[in-house]
Amino acid sequence: SICVIGSLNLDIVAAVERFPQPGETLTADGYSVFFGGKGGNQAIALGRLGARVKMAGKVGDDIHGHDYIRHLRMNGVDVSGISVEKGAATGTAMIWVDRQGENQIVVSAGANGLLQPSDIDAMWEELVHSDIFLFQLEIPIGTVAYAVKRLKQAGKTIVLDPAPASLLPDAIFRYIDYMTPNETEIRYYAGRQERYVYQLKEAAGSLLRKGVGTIVAKAGEEGAYWIREAEMTHIEAFPVQAVDTTGAGDSFNAGFAYALASGLDVEDAVRIGNAVGALSVRQVGAQSAMPTREELERFLET
Ligand code: ADP
Repeated sequence: SICVIGSLNLDIVAAVERFPQPGETLTADGYSVFFGGKGGNQAIALGRLGARVKMAGKVGDDIHGHDYIRHLRMNGVDVSGISVEKGAATGTAMIWVDRQGENQIVVSAGANGLLQPSDIDAMWEELVHSDIFLFQLEIPIGTVAYAVKRLKQAGKTIVLDPAPASLLPDAIFRYIDYMTPNETEIRYYAGRQERYVYQLKEAAGSLLRKGVGTIVAKAGEEGAYWIREAEMTHIEAFPVQAVDTTGAGDSFNAGFAYALASGLDVEDAVRIGNAVGALSVRQVGAQSAMPTREELERFLET
């Protein structure tokens, strides 16, 4: 089975005519609340695909936290790895979007920021039942580094989505089987190359030299590349009408892990990642746009 160790956020999105000045109160055109966080997004995408998936992380002892747990359960996610942190708030992203589509975002990590290596130890007996582990970088990096090392040494498969792009300790790379940066993250790990293909080669080369097994680079409407040793393979995207790409990367990772768990090789897993990513951009929203297994199968047949 698959286990996601990561963030659970509530996204509060208000539509505004323009951004407020300091001290100013504006009336929003309207607002919506969504379940988000890269960890939760990947777990929900896996649950919808019908994968056996467990979520490990922390929420606050507030209505949002309890709601999120219920929401995960309703989408087929095993929530036994989630703890409710007394006195903490559930992670929250406060987002304003103006009429030009520009946004301003303030994120409060809340309970996500409290996930410690000792929490990994405390749930170890639960964790070891899973085979594939998905990480992102919205929980403390020290906890990610600790969990990745301990799980890899226990023979597990590690997938790290380096998002949002953050400095990683050198010691982590050799424990990563698959690292799945998008274009922004590739740029972060690349030097000063101009063109994307050169940035990709430079970033991938450097990450592979540091010990990563395989790089799976997500490239939006270009699909994805997988890179191992001197070999770079491009897998084309599925042609779709993109409406909203929020959550595409998380959908890709879920599809990729679901395929690996089903025994497919990397190349076929990247193809499934592309399919789930493509399906997710056809509708507005992140989690609400993620396909079910039936939708994925129908899409692959056509
Ligand atoms: P992120 O959401 O992290 O920025 P990308 O934009 O690279 O990541 O999207 C992730 C994956 O979703 C891509 O690798 C691709 O498979 C799929 N995808 C994204 N945008 C499109 C698109 N316009 N058409 C088809 N597939 C897409």
